[in-house]
Amino acid sequence: METTIIDGKQVAAAVLEDVRADMAALAQDGRQPGLAVVLVGSDPASQAYVGSKERTCNKLGMFSRKEELPEDTSQEALLALIEELNQDARVHGILVQSPPPVHIDEAAVVRAIDPAKDVDGFHPVNVAKLALEDPSAFVPCTPLGCQKLLIASGIETAGAHVVIVGRSLIVGKSLGLLLMAKAPHANATVTIAHSRTKDLATVTKQADILVAAIGRPHFITADHVRDGAVVIDVGINRVDDASAKRGYRLVGDVDYDAVAPKCQAITPVPGGVGPMTIAMLMANTVKACRQQSA
Ligand code: NDP
Repeated sequence: METTIIDGKQVAAAVLEDVRADMAALAQDGRQPGLAVVLVGSDPASQAYVGSKERTCNKLGMFSRKEELPEDTSQEALLALIEELNQDARVHGILVQSPPPVHIDEAAVVRAIDPAKDVDGFHPVNVAKLALEDPSAFVPCTPLGCQKLLIASGIETAGAHVVIVGRSLIVGKSLGLLLMAKAPHANATVTIAHSRTKDLATVTKQADILVAAIGRPHFITADHVRDGAVVIDVGINRVDDASAKRGYRLVGDVDYDAVAPKCQAITPVPGGVGPMTIAMLMANTVKACRQQSA
């Protein structure tokens, strides 16, 4: 079977082109979307994520505020900063990089963000709006990116059986809500599997579209996938690799080499879902700017 490799870099670049065009239209009315990214502590992976979000903002000409706070920042100080960002008219989107240090109550921090600026889509108001199919909802960026990849690849979701392995809010649960919506590019029959699912392979083999969001390298093998399925691999896992410059390489949750030949289409790692997340964050920030000035 000829397998289509879904090119996330290419689709993300197209999304960013659309963002540029939207920003040009907003500029005509004197409006400039702005994003604030808050990092508490010095986790290297989080620093890298925050850095690339800031660089993408700068490339697009978006207003950007990067707030780097020390590891021992108190909950009160962080909440005070969020309140300041809620009031800052230049900032339309606020993102607090996850995970924060353990002494921070992450749920309380998310609830402190003005839902109109919650471009990550984790505030209870936005989770509810997604469930209610309210188009003003901010949908979490990674699920939104998965849906965009399916659209860009011409993969029909209406009536398709989508099996998602993983039920986190950041990926699995939100993607399930998004794809089961009575809406264009959705209307799927959705099954969500997790660590308590019995006989996982029997469930995943029913998938027309299988999404892996587990966080375990190469967990999905050829035995989990039926011939002709579409596979979206959300996983990003570091595995030791002495031959790599950094001593590790990134792999997905899918055993790509074994699974790809069976698939109609598949996303690689890296270069699949990964690049979509930042692109959709930029799109959500433009949406926030538009909605706040409407
Ligand atoms: P979580 O750890 O929050 O969720 C993992 C899910 O996988 C849970 O629902 C868990 O079940 C399920 N799971 C774990 N083990 C099994 C198993 N043996 N069988 C079936 N299900 C299992 O992870 P995230 O959702 O945050 O992330 C998932 C992956 O996606 C990670 O690799 C992460 O790095 C990546 N990711 C990538 C992003 C991107 O931009 N591309 C963005 C976000 C995440 P249970 O609920 O029962 O524990």
